[in-house]
Amino acid sequence: MATEAAPARPAGPTPTKLVYFDDMWALRSAATVLAVHQVSPSPLFSAVHAYEVAAEEGGRVAVVLDATVFHPQGGGQPADTGVISAAGARFLVEDVRAKDGLVFHYGRFDDAGEGCEHRFKEGESVSLEVDAERRSFNSRLHSAGHLLDICVHNVGLFQLEPGKGYHFPDGPFVEYKGAIPQDQIQDKKNELEREAKRLISEGAKVLVSIFPYEEAAKLCGGSLPSYISKDSTPRIVKFGEYPGGPCGGTHVADISSINSLKVITIFYAKPVFSHFGFPMPIKIMWVEG
Ligand SMILES: [Zn+2]
Repeated sequence: MATEAAPARPAGPTPTKLVYFDDMWALRSAATVLAVHQVSPSPLFSAVHAYEVAAEEGGRVAVVLDATVFHPQGGGQPADTGVISAAGARFLVEDVRAKDGLVFHYGRFDDAGEGCEHRFKEGESVSLEVDAERRSFNSRLHSAGHLLDICVHNVGLFQLEPGKGYHFPDGPFVEYKGAIPQDQIQDKKNELEREAKRLISEGAKVLVSIFPYEEAAKLCGGSLPSYISKDSTPRIVKFGEYPGGPCGGTHVADISSINSLKVITIFYAKPVFSHFGFPMPIKIMWVEG
């Protein structure tokens, strides 16, 4: 599977509980406000207090909660958007980021309605709701990236080792270490698409859960990537009977929910460090839908 952000629960003194880790399809949750900050265009995070941010600016605010159903940007997946509300106050979430185990919901209070002076207070209970359409799209894109990994294996490209995955709508791709002979690239592109079509039409349940390390390794074909700590309980995503992979993102409930996967191009990524002799990664770009 693609290399993604370490899918372990964040460490730290007061981490934000990630609701989607356990219940990936929940779109609503409740939480308690830990902090509300005005933020500058470029938030300056303090090393001592992770959510201490700088200066006042144009109404942009960061809300920190004890738990969140919002997916912060990371692991190749974009942030959720949506609304956080309390009595008399609505906060429109435009971006979500995680830092040192805390999740920052960036956005603006909706001043259009009555009681526009109201803001969240520390300790206040709030309701969270993510934008379902955007979440659904992001989940399909992320699942399609994992499906591509399965297809790469099924069409016999065993020499390719998954690297970085990028599941954003503006040009999703997965990078692989390894090579495909130039004269086979067009055939493999067609084979990948046919295999994706077959898997999507067959469908298979998507399992997402947190496991003890040894069990997680078994589910992933016997071993886990070295960036997963042996002391951790990794979160594993598994499509049907195929080997799973560590992942911190959100997914569809069944492969059949991915509309389609069309491979746009297979090419060798720009050799930034080629003069040091590093091999160029193969990049497979695709679209879903
Ligand atoms: Zn993933």
